[in-house]
Amino acid sequence: MPQHTVRSLLKVDAFIDGNWIPSEQRFSVYNPANGELIAEVCDADPALAERAIDAAYKALGPWQAKTAKERAELMRAWYQAIVANKQALGELMSREQGKPIAEAVGEIEYGASFIDWFAGEAERHHGEVLARSAADKRSWISKQGIGVCTAITPWNFPNAMITRKVAPALAAGCTIVVKPAQLTPLSALALMQLAAEVGIPQGVINMLPSSQAKAIGKVLTEHPRVRKFTFTGSTEVGKQLMAQCSSGMKKVSMELGGNAPFIIFDDADLDLAIEQLLAAKFRNAGQTCISVNRVLVHDSIISEVEQRLLRALAELQVGPGDKEGIDYGPLINQAAIDKAQKLQQQAVDAGAKVLCGGDVLHQLGPLFYAPTLITAVTPTMAISQEEIFAPILALQQFNSEAEALELANATPFGLAGYFCSSDYRRIARVAEQLQCGMLGINAGAISHAYNAFGGVKESGIGVEGSSLGLAEYQVTKTITLGGFE
Ligand code: NAP
Repeated sequence: MPQHTVRSLLKVDAFIDGNWIPSEQRFSVYNPANGELIAEVCDADPALAERAIDAAYKALGPWQAKTAKERAELMRAWYQAIVANKQALGELMSREQGKPIAEAVGEIEYGASFIDWFAGEAERHHGEVLARSAADKRSWISKQGIGVCTAITPWNFPNAMITRKVAPALAAGCTIVVKPAQLTPLSALALMQLAAEVGIPQGVINMLPSSQAKAIGKVLTEHPRVRKFTFTGSTEVGKQLMAQCSSGMKKVSMELGGNAPFIIFDDADLDLAIEQLLAAKFRNAGQTCISVNRVLVHDSIISEVEQRLLRALAELQVGPGDKEGIDYGPLINQAAIDKAQKLQQQAVDAGAKVLCGGDVLHQLGPLFYAPTLITAVTPTMAISQEEIFAPILALQQFNSEAEALELANATPFGLAGYFCSSDYRRIARVAEQLQCGMLGINAGAISHAYNAFGGVKESGIGVEGSSLGLAEYQVTKTITLGGFE
């Protein structure tokens, strides 16, 4: 198994057809903790995107011709190489993204688990033999890889948002071209280094770092050889890209933004509720699509919840990702800080109260935001309607189950939802009525390769992971064979 250091995993060129492709035009990648320049990376243009799609097209036939076991073995070798190098991969990710190294290593393991899972799915998937519709015929449904796939991914999970797409594509017998986020291309390119070393064939996975998202996105969504486009990012961009896909009737998966409610009912186990709320909120400094955006608390327990949260937030450690024992690191860039401050200020202007935090931790650097608790938030405030994507807990009150449900569902989004209760009848009722694709009940960590990850409403289309994830990269073909006596 190849053993790497951060240095030997630091690749700065595009990866096309198994080769590292430099370009004169380059863009800079910085460490958000201290502003240090990490690398100058190849800035792929639309011509390189076309070249990558051609490479994926050329590799498609031989990859599809492999047996499921052959594909699964190559995928497992890649999985093992990633796990064997998780520390170096985690350190590299922490440098470009800012999350604590331990959390980054956790993402590497989580991301790799999708490769392992879908290697298994490659071998388990099957079609269907149909009931005989005529004496002289036999029919069956076969499932086949859809063909060349393209993907665009965000910066908040620089590894896992890629493996969650590439793994099912490879398992289904597809080849793929990925454009990672401009802010975090290095984790993506390191994955390519390991894929090449374990023998994933040339052209099966191609990686296009780029600062030209719009132009590259046009090629990836409109190129006639592409049959499937998969996106993780904001709803606004997802809608544009889906519209672009419609001209070629390409299959799409959309993993988009959320606005997760976390409801604490008056019958909740408060120790458990607070613990799970903190886990769901402060991971990645609040910069996750399933992060808690709105905390809805029964009015009879609001003071108790505020006091407990104040004590818990005072314990949180903030610092650079390479410092031991920190809970979260910097936000990704100045725009993220500006957005957090604007949402907070608008809420305060409309009557909300900051109970703790509420500012940049200047002694650490310009991108570190204090653990923040805001109360007396109302549903009409922008902080309740937009993704905060920062370590700000915003508390609203309700006084009945019906009101809690109405507030929770009053959003065009429906990615994750959470609630805490000890009443089994309430649990069943609320679980049925919350509008979301993923629901945590007395649980704030809900994502796993076995689970179907995806949203409803404007949070997206399709799922990643689980036994359902493979179908996103397959087409069905009904075959009828005639001529029987
Ligand atoms: P974003 O602005 O939509 O960017 C995501 C990706 O799309 C990046 O690679 C970006 O490139 C690219 N992009 C931006 N504009 C584009 C365009 N016009 N054409 C083609 N590509 C374009 O989102 P973000 O701020 O990076 O990520 C945060 C969002 O992702 C949040 O809304 C979050 O909820 C969502 N998210 C969803 C999930 C999920 O599974 N549902 C998971 C993680 C994140 P650049 O890097 O060059 O800008």
